[in-house]
Amino acid sequence: MVDKVRGLLVGRLQPIHKGHMDVIKRILAEVDEVVICIGSAQLSHTPKDPFTAGERTMMISKALSEYGISSSSYYITPIQDVACNSLWVAQVKMLTPPFEIIYSGNSLVERLFIEAGYKVTNPPIYNREIYSGTEVRKRMITGDDWKSLIPDSVAEVIEEIDGINRIKHIHKEGI
Ligand code: NAD
Repeated sequence: MVDKVRGLLVGRLQPIHKGHMDVIKRILAEVDEVVICIGSAQLSHTPKDPFTAGERTMMISKALSEYGISSSSYYITPIQDVACNSLWVAQVKMLTPPFEIIYSGNSLVERLFIEAGYKVTNPPIYNREIYSGTEVRKRMITGDDWKSLIPDSVAEVIEEIDGINRIKHIHKEGI
């Protein structure tokens, strides 16, 4: 039996948007399975991290289904932050299925995995000016078009949980 090759993507995914979906599709074109880690899982109800890990899990699984990605090709794992950066990779490894390749554009994530001996790949950034969590959250507050930046199923989850009223209520702290 041939072992599966797994790629790992870590993101706060607040919320998952079309840029993240592009990366996930690229990862699955290169490896057998993708491990999607929901970073900063302990955070929610703040302007930068408005959604809980449970809400983000729902958004991600519905988005993957909308894009026709089989549930047998991914794992979704929430990961809480730890105070010591040097211990974080061990925390990720403890909570996830085994993985070989890291896909990240976050320099701290890259550095920590390189120092732990992993292969790290920088996926190309897909239209970063608009496909970014910061832009999505900003538009939710200003009332500009946020839905076109994210999969339809993610917009439905945000409406189901009354996410726009939540983010407007807490936005005074900045996005
Ligand atoms: P993010 O949701 O902003 O991005 C996730 C990934 O998607 C990144 O690799 C990014 O490059 C990519 N991406 C974003 N927009 C894209 C686009 N338009 N096209 C293509 N790719 C795009 O999440 P993040 O902030 O990078 O998440 C890192 C997580 O790791 C955080 O939760 C952080 O707290 C955690 N972390 C924790 C520790 C610790 O606890 N000590 C240490 C390091 C990292």
